[in-house]
Amino acid sequence: MSKKRVLVTGGAGFLGSHLCERLLNDGHDVICLDNFFTGTKGNVVHLLNNPFFELVRHDVIAPYYAEVDEIYNLACPASPIHYQYNPIKTVKTSVMGAINMLGLAKRVKAKILQASTSEVYGDPLVHPQPEEYWGNVNPIGKRSCYDEGKRCAETLFMNYHYQNDVRIKIVRIFNTYGPRMKEADGRVVSNFIIQALRNEDIAVYGDGLQTRSFQYVDDLVEGLIRMMATDDSLTGPINLGNPTEFSILELAQKVIELTSSKSKIVFEPLPSDDPIQRQPNIDRAKALLAGWEPQIQLEDGLRKTIDYFKSTL
Ligand code: NAD
Ligand code: UDP
Ligand code: UDP
Repeated sequence: MSKKRVLVTGGAGFLGSHLCERLLNDGHDVICLDNFFTGTKGNVVHLLNNPFFELVRHDVIAPYYAEVDEIYNLACPASPIHYQYNPIKTVKTSVMGAINMLGLAKRVKAKILQASTSEVYGDPLVHPQPEEYWGNVNPIGKRSCYDEGKRCAETLFMNYHYQNDVRIKIVRIFNTYGPRMKEADGRVVSNFIIQALRNEDIAVYGDGLQTRSFQYVDDLVEGLIRMMATDDSLTGPINLGNPTEFSILELAQKVIELTSSKSKIVFEPLPSDDPIQRQPNIDRAKALLAGWEPQIQLEDGLRKTIDYFKSTL
């Protein structure tokens, strides 16, 4: 495989740091660009000694110039408490960030992949969600800065492709978990593990019967790499997620079991616009990404994530 110069925006975040690691292991030259809003130097500190790794503090809202072959555009806060902290900034990050990275891709003729999200389906009325589904998004709801920002980014990607022949790839990522999730970002897997390790009450929002399907980070990274390697004619969007569905209550029980915790489950109000069901249809990914499919079962992934939080708490 030839050595490529790869730019990863949001590279110091949870998913980005795993992707940088993988790209370096595959022998590439990596620029990790991040404004450290939710990402940290700590997530990539173990890569800093590698001469093929560069860490750049930069905000994707501003133009960026470099000669690269591939761009993975991951910059954007991903958890509700962070993306709702400054919703205008979240929209700017998705929209202006996409414009700048697409402008860069156009100028240097790089291939560019957008980390889109299952949130483009909103509170879906179709279940599980295939890529053809247009979604059910509230344009003025609390989640809209994220959902609509990501939808607009997809629009920009498609139009830079049609209008300027930019080689684009769009993947819609479903809930992903693993080591380096942020401790305080409010996402369900990290919240439950931390509460369980501290023997605190585990707070399930609503009745806990809402479902999610949880993908382990290594499976996602494999999907991103395979997507980037596809033929130029394949733009996506392609769903990347683990279709095995669990209720939030089942997740809480599993975490308690795996940590041998004394925690009790308590119920708290459900946040507004909280989707009731979410499950990817991954037929396209399986067919088009050389048989890609998640390999890591929830229990194994949870164990690895629990070990990580044990070492950091
Ligand atoms: P994260 O918050 O850990 O990572 C996002 C990174 O982007 C952080 O390092 C942050 O500092 C950086 N960033 C934010 N705004 C920026 C800006 N304006 N300029 C430069 N850098 C900026 O979240 P994550 O879970 O690693 O998510 C990465 C990407 O994947 C996001 O685009 C997110 O929308 C997408 N995604 C994640 C999930 C998931 O379950 N984790 C699901 C769907 C989509
Ligand atoms: N851009 C960038 N790096 C580049 C080339 C462009 O950040 O190497 C930015 C540029 O500043 C502009 C955006 O990408 O804001 C869109 O670029 P495009 O070429 O599509 O449009 P234009 O340059 O005409 O605004
Ligand atoms: N959730 C919960 N307790 C928590 C955090 C989240 O019950 O401490 C629920 C939340 O209401 C949602 C699900 O778990 O129904 C997944 O939440 P998360 O924020 O992780 O992901 P998203 O809603 O973005 O899919």
